[in-house]
Amino acid sequence: MKIICIGRNYAEHAKELNNPVPKEPVFFLKPDSALLRNNFPFFIPDFSQEIHYETELVLRICKLGKAILPKFAHTYYDAIGLGIDFTARDLQQKCKEKGLPWEIAKAFDGSAPIGNFIDKSEFPDHSNIKFHLDINGETVQQGNSFDMIFSFDLLIAHVSRYITLKTGDYIFTGTPAGVGPVKINDRLEAFLEGKKLLDFRVK
Ligand code: ZN
Repeated sequence: MKIICIGRNYAEHAKELNNPVPKEPVFFLKPDSALLRNNFPFFIPDFSQEIHYETELVLRICKLGKAILPKFAHTYYDAIGLGIDFTARDLQQKCKEKGLPWEIAKAFDGSAPIGNFIDKSEFPDHSNIKFHLDINGETVQQGNSFDMIFSFDLLIAHVSRYITLKTGDYIFTGTPAGVGPVKINDRLEAFLEGKKLLDFRVK
């Protein structure tokens, strides 16, 4: 399986990192070794001094598909969950300055915690899904799919022009504004429409 992550899908987040608002989706990949399940703790890697959380809605792909049309895209995911796209912001900044790929800042082991998924039929409107992240009991990031620049359907259509989607793949759909650093002993709790899907510690 693979993890496809969308960058800059919320205008306010693009602005907070001084990035232009994109005209088409930006994406990158994380390998399967980035996944962190079952609320296993996240260990801060020794190569970064600045790990940021990015809380994101995640789609679970349920069907093989290539060059999927937007009108059929909704049939290619069966569940929605939450994930954290951990980012070594200090390394990413260096990559950006040099025009290098982002992998060392984005694709490292454990950089993609995911929680349980909720069947997509439980969401009456996929363009109005609320989520938030609490750190040590305080809400630090809030989002709503309403604010995405590119909808789930457009993301699936775009990505599948280039890369075949397979059952079990995940699409991280981008983070809203409010990203920030984590430190050792932080407790992260992520909620989707009020349901807690992630609850883990930083070590
Ligand atoms: Zn992200």
